[in-house]
Amino acid sequence: MPEFRFEPVQMPPAATRLRAEVRGFLDEEKAKGTFAPTVGAMVAADPSFSARLGARGYLGMTWPKQYGGHERSALERYVVVEELLAAGAPVMAHWIADRQSGPQILKHGAERVKKMILPEIASGRCFFAIGMSEPDTGSDLASVKTRAVPVEGGFRVTGRKVWTSYAHMAHYVIALVRTGGRPEDRHVGLTQLIVDMKSPGIEVRPIINVYGAHEFNEVAFDDVFVPEDMSVGGIGNGWAMVTSELAFERSGPDRFMSTYPLLVEAFREIGESPNASEAAELGRLVAHLATLRRMSTSIAGMLNEGKSPVTEAALVKDLGTTFEQSIPEITRRLLPLEPRGGGNGQAYDGLQQLAQMQAPCYSIRGGTREILRGMIARGLGLR
Ligand SMILES: Cc1cc2nc3c(=O)[nH]c(=O)nc-3n(C[C@H](O)[C@H](O)[C@H](O)COP(=O)(O)OP(=O)(O)OC[C@H]3O[C@@H](n4cnc5c(N)ncnc54)[C@H](O)[C@@H]3O)c2cc1C
Repeated sequence: MPEFRFEPVQMPPAATRLRAEVRGFLDEEKAKGTFAPTVGAMVAADPSFSARLGARGYLGMTWPKQYGGHERSALERYVVVEELLAAGAPVMAHWIADRQSGPQILKHGAERVKKMILPEIASGRCFFAIGMSEPDTGSDLASVKTRAVPVEGGFRVTGRKVWTSYAHMAHYVIALVRTGGRPEDRHVGLTQLIVDMKSPGIEVRPIINVYGAHEFNEVAFDDVFVPEDMSVGGIGNGWAMVTSELAFERSGPDRFMSTYPLLVEAFREIGESPNASEAAELGRLVAHLATLRRMSTSIAGMLNEGKSPVTEAALVKDLGTTFEQSIPEITRRLLPLEPRGGGNGQAYDGLQQLAQMQAPCYSIRGGTREILRGMIARGLGLR
């Protein structure tokens, strides 16, 4: 039976030094009041904060300098991401571009496109959205109907995407479209196209979520022109591109740290003398966190070596989202919503309320629990 491999990874000294530097930066930002910690990992957006991260060299960190990157290791990038999430910082504006669109373009994009887009992402001034899901296409991504018809110099795209997070702030969306065959042809004939959100024919319609926030959208494409070199990985290779992209999307600390700021506030509220059940519950959460972190850094090491650990990434996301969903559940049992004094009760209350409403989505976004478990079973040779 195939095995999972999560080789341990040693953080290099450069990463440890960088951690202190990032913490210093975040402390300064908090002192200036530029953000209040929030839960959700990828929900709060502030383009000016993203630009400040870019100016400090915290975006496009692993990319070559010729494309605006900083040629640092995946583990140094990991440390920056981890500190941003631990602080509950507003990272969403640049998140998708830095985490997955940029790496995909670097690996599979045309030279003109790399030169045009990657330095902009690294500067924190260019944001991306993911255009995979459609009104009748979610888990079953291979059934996408949005169609790109070849025309002189490129394609004309027509169709509809849905749940497109932060499309209203994005400069580009990478859309999974059908460039050949019929929806019944499944994996054949799919292509990932980089679509400029300023193109004529695009309409972004807000979808307001359960806690009243505008985070995702419906995006309609009506005969939108896309130049032919704006594909990722070439025409007809969309399925392979999507599959490898999801390894970047699923294994990072954003898949288990969404409610970490709430855990920190719960510790503050409970104080230094927890009773036996508080100590046991919080201790278990910390042990799970340490294990997930070890698995996720191991995947960062594999990605650094150019591997595509798709099954391992699915496992981290499944375990990770279960963990981040359990934090509001467990802390709610330990702490009544009315703060007990001593800590910063207001912060705890706010984060707890938001986490309660948000948590169900953690195991849907980026691939549902059932789909991930199917992939893990397949990876283990069980189906
Ligand atoms: C907060 C949030 C942000 C999102 N952002 C984006 C984004 O930016 N871009 C984007 O493209 N999409 C985005 N999505 C969409 C997300 O990827 C889809 O919601 C997800 O893939 C599930 O698709 P669906 O909603 O169509 O559900 P369906 O696929 O209809 O699934 C419904 C239920 O059936 C189960 N199910 C489906 N097929 C199977 C199967 N074969 N075996 C077992 N069970 C199955 C699912 O697990 C689920 O429980 C976002 C979603 C959320 C919640």
